[in-house]
Amino acid sequence: MPDYQQHEHDVLVIGAGGAGLRAAIEASAAGVSVGLVCKSLLGKAHTVMAEGGIAAALANVDDRDSWKVHFADTMRGGQYVNNWRMAELHAKEAPDRVRELEAWGAMFDRTADGKILQRNFGGHRYPRLAHVGDRTGLEMIRTLQDHGIHQGIDVHMECTVVTLLKDGDRVVGAFGYERERGRFKLFKARAVVLATGGVGRAYKITSNSWEYTGDGHTLAYDAGADLMDMEFVQFHPTGMIWPPSVCGILVTEAVRGEGGVLKNSEGRRFMYDEIPDNYRSQTADNDEEGWRYTQGDKAARRPPELLTRDHVSRCIMREVKAGRGSPHGGVFLDIAWIKARIPSGAEHIRKKLPSMYHQFKQLADLDITETPMEVGPTTHYVMGGVKVDAETQMSTVPGLFAAGECAAGINGANRLGGNSLSDILVFGKRAGEFAAKFAKEQKAPSVDGAQVDAAAKGALEPFERGTSGEGAYQVQYALQEMMQNLVGIVRNEPEMKRALECLGPLRERAARVGVGGHREYNPGWHAALDLHSLLTVSEAVTRSALERRESRGGHFRDDYPDKDNAFGSFNFVVRKKSDGAMEVARAPIPPMPAELKQVIDEMK
Ligand SMILES: Cc1cc2nc3c(=O)[nH]c(=O)nc-3n(C[C@H](O)[C@H](O)[C@H](O)COP(=O)(O)OP(=O)(O)OC[C@H]3O[C@@H](n4cnc5c(N)ncnc54)[C@H](O)[C@@H]3O)c2cc1C
Repeated sequence: MPDYQQHEHDVLVIGAGGAGLRAAIEASAAGVSVGLVCKSLLGKAHTVMAEGGIAAALANVDDRDSWKVHFADTMRGGQYVNNWRMAELHAKEAPDRVRELEAWGAMFDRTADGKILQRNFGGHRYPRLAHVGDRTGLEMIRTLQDHGIHQGIDVHMECTVVTLLKDGDRVVGAFGYERERGRFKLFKARAVVLATGGVGRAYKITSNSWEYTGDGHTLAYDAGADLMDMEFVQFHPTGMIWPPSVCGILVTEAVRGEGGVLKNSEGRRFMYDEIPDNYRSQTADNDEEGWRYTQGDKAARRPPELLTRDHVSRCIMREVKAGRGSPHGGVFLDIAWIKARIPSGAEHIRKKLPSMYHQFKQLADLDITETPMEVGPTTHYVMGGVKVDAETQMSTVPGLFAAGECAAGINGANRLGGNSLSDILVFGKRAGEFAAKFAKEQKAPSVDGAQVDAAAKGALEPFERGTSGEGAYQVQYALQEMMQNLVGIVRNEPEMKRALECLGPLRERAARVGVGGHREYNPGWHAALDLHSLLTVSEAVTRSALERRESRGGHFRDDYPDKDNAFGSFNFVVRKKSDGAMEVARAPIPPMPAELKQVIDEMK
């Protein structure tokens, strides 16, 4: 085995967003040595981009809130195919995780009596999102980093892991490359936690940054782990659509939480046109009531703009298709109107939504305190991911744990806004705790040199083909375009079958990709290596979506537009067969205990 840079840790955490940092902190606190690897600079994970807030039933603003209401909201939002135990743990533990962040120094906006302020968000019955303006993720990352840095965690920044290493069934390490110098790194570990975030870059229009190519999903899949719920991709209703260079960048739901309304080209609030039955009793039927809700009137019901993201996205698509869209193919999101209701309204908007104000001013030359924004759906989040045990976060492969967006279960068919920041704290902590426990029980890892050499050889193949090979970016763009058009917001069997047919030739093209130059500072090479993950998650999404012959949450099919109860009792899992082909199977959902059923019934 050549002389790779070698590191050995008891627990290796791959990914340094909220889930990875929280896992690393917990593992380190358990007294084991911890390595933390991330693709970009520490502090630049997706978590830092989170705007709206962290969902936790602190009941600071509305004392009717409790873990029970949060649990019921999460299950309703996920259309009851969630892992109910994860939803329960999440609802019960999120408040403690937020208070812990506060104790570690996180700043939050405050109520008049000094408690953490909470705001309204789609699908949450009461104001539940702890926040700092619209920069909550930044504060979370800053706090976790500050806290973690004193725990003696070894950080390996700008390093991409390309494969996991196994000893028999067990995961014993990982292999990757430094993005700057291109040097290979070998990590030996007794336990590995995946916290690699999402898959948004498999689509053309996305709020996700370049890092989110589904690496953790693919690392786990290749190591033999089950992925679950991959058909459930969340298209956030409000992304920027103009100018083209910024298409997909998120416009936080907090805009609607603060009173922003959606209108079509006729100036009509079209969200009243279709209210799903299971939300009808909770939804305002006039503008006045909706406005009072956003201002904290406990007697009022939520405005229809704060229905779940899947529904709002489809309503926007309906308006656009019917010719009632905005000039650039979206609809209008108006927060400026609240000036009619609030004294110093413009100042209020700038204070509550500072990032949105600057984002539109700088990127679109538009003042959101004066002019409605043009918005449309953008690929935002993946509910599917590594199938994990609810208590420990261990995958179906011993020694391999997963937490945060790359793990599945808590969200079911659709995630409520704000539930990710709480998910990554709750399950990041659990993953770190149980990975440390597992590591303590294992003997030292033994790494097979042949596996490492094969990974290194595979990673260097694009250089052998040189500039005469296919361009990595061309393949990436073709894949993103194809997924956007054929496995997007509205799906059907013929299009998804076409998508599967396209994936074969795209894989062949990926195998022919060539790269010029050398290993230092070579983004073309990085893009070439990302293709395997992008293709794997795209296939997993497509195959699972084809099997789910109904519409539920983030998965909408115009050939099966209704929810079918027959699909409500299992999840689809994806795994690699011994011949390397992808298999889709059904995993029954265990029966929910009577006391949780009762909670759901009480909250209807
Ligand atoms: C614009 C925006 C706004 C959002 N707002 C909110 C909000 O207000 N509330 C909310 O709850 N959710 C929000 N979300 C969703 C939420 O931010 C994410 O789901 C969450 O932060 C994911 O955290 P994570 O720790 O799982 O992963 P991430 O924060 O995505 O971190 C992933 C880490 O994995 C690393 N990584 C990836 N692949 C590799 C590899 N191969 N090798 C090494 N490292 C790797 C990355 O470098 C990174 O460090 C928002 C998302 C976006 C994009």
